[in-house]
Amino acid sequence: MKNLWDPDHPLAQGDALDQCVYGSRLLGGDHEAVLHGGGNTSVKIDQPDLFGEMQRVLYVKGSGHNLETIGRDGFAPVDLQRVAKLVELDELSDTEMMNALRTACLRADAPAPSVESILHAILPATAVEHTHPDAVLAVTNTENGAERARDLYGDDVIILPYEMPGFDLAQQAAAALAAEYTPGMRRMVLLNHGLFTFGDTTKSAYDDMVDMITMAEEYLEAEGINPSGTPQTPTPCPFCDRTAISGLRRDMSAHAGRPLLVHQHHDQRTWAFSQRTDLDRVARQGPATPDHVLFTKRLPMLGRDVNGYAADYTAEFDAFNGDQNLTMLDPAPRVILDPELGMLTAGRDVKSYVAARDIAKHTVNTIERAERIGGYHALPANDILSVEYWELEQAKLSRAARHDLEFQGEVAIVTGAASGIGRGCVDKLLARGAAVVGFDVNESVINTFDTPAYLGVQVDVTSTDAIDAGLDAAVAAFGGVDMVVAAAGMFPNSTPVAELDRTGWRAALDVNVTGLAELMSMVHPLLVDAPRGGRVVIIGSKNVAAPGPGAAAYSASKAAANQLARVIAMEWAPDNIRVNNVHPDAVFDTGLWTDDLLAARADRYGMTVDEYKRRNLLSTEITSADIAAVTARLLSTEFGAVTGGHLSIDGGNDRTI
Ligand code: ZN
Repeated sequence: MKNLWDPDHPLAQGDALDQCVYGSRLLGGDHEAVLHGGGNTSVKIDQPDLFGEMQRVLYVKGSGHNLETIGRDGFAPVDLQRVAKLVELDELSDTEMMNALRTACLRADAPAPSVESILHAILPATAVEHTHPDAVLAVTNTENGAERARDLYGDDVIILPYEMPGFDLAQQAAAALAAEYTPGMRRMVLLNHGLFTFGDTTKSAYDDMVDMITMAEEYLEAEGINPSGTPQTPTPCPFCDRTAISGLRRDMSAHAGRPLLVHQHHDQRTWAFSQRTDLDRVARQGPATPDHVLFTKRLPMLGRDVNGYAADYTAEFDAFNGDQNLTMLDPAPRVILDPELGMLTAGRDVKSYVAARDIAKHTVNTIERAERIGGYHALPANDILSVEYWELEQAKLSRAARHDLEFQGEVAIVTGAASGIGRGCVDKLLARGAAVVGFDVNESVINTFDTPAYLGVQVDVTSTDAIDAGLDAAVAAFGGVDMVVAAAGMFPNSTPVAELDRTGWRAALDVNVTGLAELMSMVHPLLVDAPRGGRVVIIGSKNVAAPGPGAAAYSASKAAANQLARVIAMEWAPDNIRVNNVHPDAVFDTGLWTDDLLAARADRYGMTVDEYKRRNLLSTEITSADIAAVTARLLSTEFGAVTGGHLSIDGGNDRTI
């Protein structure tokens, strides 16, 4: 591990808390050391209280903060003496401990102090760092892991057998410190968990951390193992079997009691791992460090038998629960290893499946290396379940569930996503928690939105192959399709029928009707699998009910699409798929309208541009965002009893009202 401490960095030159922030970010930025909110750090500082009396304050990482991005505000200042004294209690429940930590806090708006605060408080040093490094876990999560750790790190280190994080771990460490600590000691190994280093400054704790991780890497290297993982010979990657993945997502969501996102991974390492013939032995032991269970569950699912996985999970929970009266979490898997589909990870949102993915990849890496030095050994199931069912974690999860967004865990495809109404719909659906796949013939769709919940794919809806590839991309990224907003459309040059522009006519029919029919036909099996029922909104036009002279191709194609939507609504109702329509008019913030065109049109009616824009009964301007807002409502459960519906969004028009 490279020591990245730069003495000239502004944070390195700041006060003790700045230095702690700097050391935390260096560790957090190294994903071989910690992942997704794992690990914690602290620094002890003497400072005056309001009365000028000096007080020793422990600044400890706040829960919910990530070391990689933490700032000064991410640390909770607590009264060191009070927190350190807690270790003397005979017992302390997690809830009591968190209450004691919160009430020892010296800043009212500070985050909740880390569950490891008591351990940080009792370690006899100013600065403390704690990580879960892959290389160390690869060495110690093995048979004779304790001896290996002793051989590797010598006598000047405290080695603790696994203990439940929080109060129990703090008590165990206190006993070990009382028995083994000698001045100058700065290192601690927690078997099956990670490392602690502590020193006079953050820099010295960081130096020790880098040193300990490097020693583990060199140990692996000496065993002939590439410290950053065994290179794989290239193998073809898994293909996207849309039906299989969408069906898995349906079954998993049913067990989860909510829609889950499922992501198929296309990297060589996890693909090769999923091909191992000894997967049942090596992959079904448990996570490398206990808190990974919160994202991955204890075991991955091998193959596709979701019911079997859920039954096993439930049985394991029942055995663990005994008479504890715990509430079971959902029994759906979060990591899937399948010889044909490769590795897939699942989560309630993009952030969760990304966390599951990163952890699973690092676990694969740890297992593969441990297997080469005598075999991977994880903790017994009950130790892992104790963390999964930790009362604090349970509280966190139920808090998160209350903040669920309307479309969380659901996937929408929006066509015509690069501009105008389509773009407005993507924006609205992302804001309401959906993962969105934008299709557009314009390449700019790829970068129209910059969030991991958005995937832009260049798709010409008149090409069957392009739709096929777009649906593959959608399912590989998010696991299925729950909603479709069909906003792609074209408005050919206006010509009277007597002078019919045959090219324009065919193009309008191709995009506005045939492309729509093709997309609907191909996406149907995916919508059937949607956990809350499939939903479609087709963006129609005022012209369906009130056509204008000169717009034959546009009006006729939109009317045909309207008839198509009516038939689909009837055909798909038995599949619990709702199909509704909105009919916008005079939406001028779309790609169809330029300033010149708008000015020319206003001029023709003898109006100013503003008057022309508000030429409706309500005298209101209609925007893409207005169409998107109504579209999102139609997709919501509030319209669960509506299919085949039509809504005009035109400010009121006496020809259609
Ligand atoms: Zn830890």
